[in-house]
Amino acid sequence: MNSSFDINKIVRPNVSALKSYSSARDEYQSTGNSMIFLDANENPFPTNVNRYPDPQQRDLKSRLGELKGIDPENILLGNGSDEVLDLIFRAFCEPGMSNVITLPPTYGMYGVLANINNVENREVQLSEDFEPRVEEIFQNVNEQSKIVFLCSPNNPTGNSFSEERVLEIINRFNGLVVIDEAYIDFSQAPSWLERLAEFPNLIITQTLSKAYGMAGIRLGTCYASREIIEILNRIKPPYNINGLTQEKALEAVLDTGRVHGEITRITGQRDYMSSELSKLEFVERVFPSDANFLLVRVDDATKRYKQMLERGIVVRNRTTQPLCGNSLRFTIGTEPENRSLLDELTKITKQENL
Ligand SMILES: *Cc1c(COP(=O)(O)O)cnc(C)c1O
Repeated sequence: MNSSFDINKIVRPNVSALKSYSSARDEYQSTGNSMIFLDANENPFPTNVNRYPDPQQRDLKSRLGELKGIDPENILLGNGSDEVLDLIFRAFCEPGMSNVITLPPTYGMYGVLANINNVENREVQLSEDFEPRVEEIFQNVNEQSKIVFLCSPNNPTGNSFSEERVLEIINRFNGLVVIDEAYIDFSQAPSWLERLAEFPNLIITQTLSKAYGMAGIRLGTCYASREIIEILNRIKPPYNINGLTQEKALEAVLDTGRVHGEITRITGQRDYMSSELSKLEFVERVFPSDANFLLVRVDDATKRYKQMLERGIVVRNRTTQPLCGNSLRFTIGTEPENRSLLDELTKITKQENL
């Protein structure tokens, strides 16, 4: 338990003083009865989307809450987790003053959002085995440090961080710890969601963009204490989750059978691809993965990247990232897509050995 954490010391003073904007749909929530709605200047003729969507996404949060075992009051939804991350910056970081801690190599958006919000990004590189270096993190923390971003399973390395290290960071840090669990559904490690209630400074983000197969609708989820969610609600755009997204997202979270089936296939393919890729001559190392991608160190990443492009296969070249020299990130595709990748890579090897 982090006893020195005080949310009132973390929130920006101007945000603390804000009252949230009250939209028409906040002031009167449709009950489904035959009310006549003349309050929001909508066009009355039905198009299926002629009405403003629910600004608090009650149906969706209630279903998500059931699925995750979390009270809807502990949930905030965003236009992708990228919007959630931006809201967190804007609620808690004072431009030109605050700093955040990020642990490269990791997801690029934390640094991008820090720049956009004029917040210093203190980068503390992961260890050689891609774990957070706890002492180095705390050497970089000062009074102005508001947030530590932990991505677990981490993009692009694919590993989950050690539970003990994450726990120590949450317990020692007097600011907020954001755990980005975009890939948690592919992982054997439990979600930190199970322990959310223990930590007043913990924020967990997840997304429908990866395992749920809905990157196109843009829906990110954020789980935290009621106090934190209440602050984020104050600054979010009233209708940030459009009606079509709410509808599709509800379908996805109800269809757990489809999602689980796909996760099983993807993780099965991941483990198969890991062993097949290891056999290739120019592959030096396939890193273990808890996600739906593999980080692979090769002899010459840029050369291999171009060879694959010429054969119509797009992967991600991560060679310029710290600790990722000559490394490529392969997303796990369908069985035939993965087969094609292996076939092309085998052909490349054979040609070179002629
Ligand atoms: C893909 C990804 C996301 C997802 O972002 P959305 O805006 O929800 O699509 C978040 N965090 C990480 C680490 C990711 O790799």
